[in-house]
Amino acid sequence: MKYISSDRSTKLSSHGTRTILLLLASALTCAACTPAPKDVKESRFIMGTLVTFTIAGTPRNQALDAIKAATTEMQRVQNEFTIYGDHPNAVKALNASQPGTPVTLPHEVSQLLQQSLEISQESGGAFTPVTGSLSLLWGFSLPNPPRKPPSAKAIRIALSGVHNRLLEHKGDVWKHLNIQTKLDFGGIAKGYAIDRGIAVLKAHGINSAILDAGGDLRAIGSHNGKPWRIGIRHPRNKNKTIGWFDVHGDISIVTSGDYERFYFYHGKRYHHIMNPVTGMPAMKSMSATVIASNATLADGWSTALFVRGVAGLKAIGLYGMQAVLMDAQGKLYNTTDSLIRFHVSPVQKAASPDH
Ligand code: ADP
Ligand code: MG
Repeated sequence: MKYISSDRSTKLSSHGTRTILLLLASALTCAACTPAPKDVKESRFIMGTLVTFTIAGTPRNQALDAIKAATTEMQRVQNEFTIYGDHPNAVKALNASQPGTPVTLPHEVSQLLQQSLEISQESGGAFTPVTGSLSLLWGFSLPNPPRKPPSAKAIRIALSGVHNRLLEHKGDVWKHLNIQTKLDFGGIAKGYAIDRGIAVLKAHGINSAILDAGGDLRAIGSHNGKPWRIGIRHPRNKNKTIGWFDVHGDISIVTSGDYERFYFYHGKRYHHIMNPVTGMPAMKSMSATVIASNATLADGWSTALFVRGVAGLKAIGLYGMQAVLMDAQGKLYNTTDSLIRFHVSPVQKAASPDH
């Protein structure tokens, strides 16, 4: 992540993030005007990723208090939803329970699970919150991820649990019906944490900010009256963007890509976004960006769009969102139109080196 002032260059240092925040030159030069307070920019390591807060037009102490509270809240969300690590939570308890055993989830978790199931249904199953067995088997989010794919048999076994109908609930009391049916909020919890973080910033009187969790972000307000400029990283060249948005107001931009967690095995790329039908990494996209009114939706749908590829663009429009997609051949699709404009970078053909 790097800030560049009013520079339209497409060559950017992004440190492996998916979106790149490009700050427009915004210092007030008018002598009669009160200069806006300097931006406060702070990074924290939360949810296994570098989360960067950029707060504009706010005194430093107030901004730092808000960042502290938002960080605590995002950490809480992480602990509540993660299926990794030693920290016990109800999600892990449900995953470890015997089939048919009722487990009460915290209302917040139960609600996000229901929303996830809705997105699952609306995306034709491309996104599903029950990829837990598959995710643990492939192991991309483990502390030491494996470097080669699991066996076909192991994938078949894990896949036997990946069906939404194997999950039942009455209110917040849930049960699964198959030992392989395990929740995994990896495709949506980061967006939810971003939304919670923004809610906390707002409660602390922050009106203009960007909360960027490793390239998935929500922007509010403006950069001292000017738009926030947000670039989308090229999936095959971390120093290039495929384009950018200038955004005002409250908007979330989330990207799912095959370049964050992956390895090559026998010359083929394997990554962490699964096709729930095959149990293999989804092969139709390199990068899928969804722009929505909140980061929870944008996150869930960016994973869904990545899995479906071009065929998934229609649903994005249908549900009032926008998207930028680079398919597996490096072809760029862009459904952004009237709401916010996507500026395509001059160079966006897939380029080597592959990283
Ligand atoms: P990132 O975690 O890099 O932001 P995504 O939002 O696309 O990327 O989420 C990918 C994560 O979601 C995976 O690490 C895994 O935990 C989970 N996941 C993988 N495939 C799917 C899927 N088809 N539906 C829902 N979640 C998935
Ligand atoms: Mg996602």
